[in-house]
Amino acid sequence: MCSLLRKHLHWNLLKLVCPRHTIIYTQRLLSVVTPDIIVPRKMKGRFASEEQKRIITELVIKSSSSIIDWDALKSSVLSINRGYINEKNINGCILEACSQQKRLDLVKSFMKYVKQCSHGKPNIALELLYIRSCYKSRSELTDNDQYEIQTNCQSLFKNNLHLLNSVLLEGIVMGICCTPLWRDSLKFIKESKVEDNISLNTFVSVILRAFEEEEIDLGWTTVQNMFNLHRIIPLEIVAAWFNVCEKNVNCSHRRVLEFLRDNEYIIRENLAELIRSKLNQSGIKTTTTMIYHNNGKCKNCNQVLEHAEVTNSDFKILQERFLSDVMIGKNIFNNSSPQELSDFKDFIEITAPYDVVVDGLNLAYAYRGKIGDHSLTKFVMKSFIEKKLKVLLIGRKHLVKMLGKEFDFIKKNAHIFFTNDLSKDDPFVLYAAMYSGIDTKILTRDLMRGHKYLLGDAIIKSIFQKWLQKHRLGLRIRPGNEVIIKEPITYLQATQESANGIWHMPYQEFKEPGSWSKPDSSPDKWMCIQM
Ligand SMILES: [Zn+2]
Repeated sequence: MCSLLRKHLHWNLLKLVCPRHTIIYTQRLLSVVTPDIIVPRKMKGRFASEEQKRIITELVIKSSSSIIDWDALKSSVLSINRGYINEKNINGCILEACSQQKRLDLVKSFMKYVKQCSHGKPNIALELLYIRSCYKSRSELTDNDQYEIQTNCQSLFKNNLHLLNSVLLEGIVMGICCTPLWRDSLKFIKESKVEDNISLNTFVSVILRAFEEEEIDLGWTTVQNMFNLHRIIPLEIVAAWFNVCEKNVNCSHRRVLEFLRDNEYIIRENLAELIRSKLNQSGIKTTTTMIYHNNGKCKNCNQVLEHAEVTNSDFKILQERFLSDVMIGKNIFNNSSPQELSDFKDFIEITAPYDVVVDGLNLAYAYRGKIGDHSLTKFVMKSFIEKKLKVLLIGRKHLVKMLGKEFDFIKKNAHIFFTNDLSKDDPFVLYAAMYSGIDTKILTRDLMRGHKYLLGDAIIKSIFQKWLQKHRLGLRIRPGNEVIIKEPITYLQATQESANGIWHMPYQEFKEPGSWSKPDSSPDKWMCIQM
């Protein structure tokens, strides 16, 4: 038995024989831990909480047996005044500590103790925490444990159907996924009626179990459902799929690449590196490469990437969806006044179509600090005007001052619409461009991700992505403030397979929070994969 526990037991024994003495003894001990002279008054609470946590964690880490005097632990923690752990939350705190250390034996022992104290009925929050703790150590669960969890989950579901929310559902699904009845999770999800709010962990629990059981179709259908709702693929899902591939020769690494291709999803560097290492382990060669902007050629293998194609009929579908459902129906102009919106629509009807629509505010922000004041806007506008293009500049009223004497020239040769300070400019830019037609280009750094997700179905999202990429001009600023307007990228910026079986996978590199990212949506890196 550890010394700490011995100490707690000693305190308890003292309490029994001489309660008054114990109080004094405890206070004296505490004064050693948090002496009044050194600790500022305000800090007492934090120090007391840390001491409470330390007592629990130390016991959990050091205990070599699951036979613990939980009463003694609780009273020694609660004997410390001013800490955040109290009578109401102590059970949760102890269980959480056991769970964090993945001490399934202590998790079970403590829950047994709680059930004895509360005559078999712990509250739902503790019940859910217990299930999550078991999920963390699911590989160690015995048949009896699984049976107990299964019964728990079934009754939790049955008894709480009326108040089932995504948190409760997540706990129940995590629990049932630890048991042979894991397929019931699908029934629970369906009957819960929280479809739009199913948590990521709920999906992940089902997917991991489905992959473990090699229920491949079920696994991937759930991956797709998860992706549709959360737009994310957790690393553990991809790692689990690669594990399936190692065990089952009928399963291929390609499935991950196909998923990225079909969803045109650009992953982050950490997932790309996981894919790289797994492919390399299977003897597949991967090379970090770059794609030449002007012709879409891979520097490594010389293959030309697929062309991003947007046909007239594709554009018509996109235009209709945008101008009616998305822009107006879903109210993305919600920061604009109805009068402003109405003025804007009238203005566009009279003045469109444009060759180029410039997002003035975005331009100013995106390149802030890179080039002085609004000289970038001046340069860009003058350059379009000189090419005899019909340009619309969307901006804020303060631009007039910033542009100074150049404003008159721009005003004379281009169209300008000023929005209110509260309005978001990107819906105006998209509206003007969509209204103008398939050939109109836009100049913005905004990735318009929010709008893409409002479009609903995957086909329209894909058309939008391609349209955006093919119609968005870029800027490059060279030393000496030389500004170059870059034509849009014409190759498809998504994972793709060439005719000769070489895959190209784009990904975003890891960036420190707050670091400056380059002002266009093109992926930072590409991987050339020779299958
Ligand atoms: Zn290549």
